[in-house]
Amino acid sequence: MRKIAFLDRDGTLIIEPPVTYQVNSLDEMVLLPHVISSLKKISDNGYDLVIITNQDGLGTDANPAFIYNNINKKMFEIFASEDVHFKSVLCCPHYLADNCNCRKPKTKLIDDYLKGEKIDMEKSFVVGDRDSDLELAKNLGIRGFKLDENNSWDDVVKQALSRKAKVERATKETKILVDINLDGDGKADIKTGLNFFDHMLHQIAKHGSFDLTIHCDGDTEVDEHHTIEDVAIALGQALKDALGDKKGIERYSHERIIVMDECKCEIGIDLSGRAHPVLNIELNREYVGDFPTEMLSHFFHSFAIASAMNIHATLTGENTHHQIECFFKALAKSLKDAVKVVSNQIVSTKGVL
Ligand SMILES: [Zn+2]
Repeated sequence: MRKIAFLDRDGTLIIEPPVTYQVNSLDEMVLLPHVISSLKKISDNGYDLVIITNQDGLGTDANPAFIYNNINKKMFEIFASEDVHFKSVLCCPHYLADNCNCRKPKTKLIDDYLKGEKIDMEKSFVVGDRDSDLELAKNLGIRGFKLDENNSWDDVVKQALSRKAKVERATKETKILVDINLDGDGKADIKTGLNFFDHMLHQIAKHGSFDLTIHCDGDTEVDEHHTIEDVAIALGQALKDALGDKKGIERYSHERIIVMDECKCEIGIDLSGRAHPVLNIELNREYVGDFPTEMLSHFFHSFAIASAMNIHATLTGENTHHQIECFFKALAKSLKDAVKVVSNQIVSTKGVL
């Protein structure tokens, strides 16, 4: 299924003149800041780019077709110089008063363009500078992003391409919600019912720059086991879902070594699609706060299997609190390395990860 970015033209790709709201000559054609690099990123992420524009009275003296066409031609030349190409241009030439079927936010132009083709509704989106662009998105049932003084093209790219997943998992022992954005800012909302575990999961969000929500209602009246194990499974699943086909990711961590006072943790990750956890660790205390230390290795194994990764970790040190915290920081940093988008290729000779 195709992923499509539907793009308004005036005010979105090129600056709309403030008085006339119409670009009347090539001299007036100025591209929006960062629009080329933004569309390149969107295109590199596998999107088709389709322009959809309302051109009031196109073909009349007030809006001559040759000016509109000249501007498109020049604009396409500039975008093409950076390898950005548009699949199609859909244009309504009518006035609002004409009450036509094709003017945005109506969907007829797109319906006719797609001819019943199913597109990726979850990933496709509309970008524009008007409420009618957002209405178009709503009418299509896809995401819409509005450009304004507080929302630049860089912001839109971040919102549109962010890799997110939500996992809800319920058993007789635990009820869990995990919501992750791999391209977030480190915002965390974590409540597992275990204070030390919450503190550790915050490290993953903070040092991985992931936005992370984890809510767990677990049977801690029995003990901590199910809560820690099931959160690890749900978090691993969310990571796997958010990565999707893993196109463009770094795949490997950079053999991270993180120190914290007397502790040292070395972690290597390969997001290979195969689970193989190897953990070398010795912890002195039985508990840190409300966290049974034997559960660290259980967390590690469950997380690796659910996310289908190779992960090797070696942890040394004296203070058990430091050791476990050092481990979670190293895990976060290693994940941050491995999930980073660095190309538009799948990093595998098999072509699949
Ligand atoms: Zn129309």
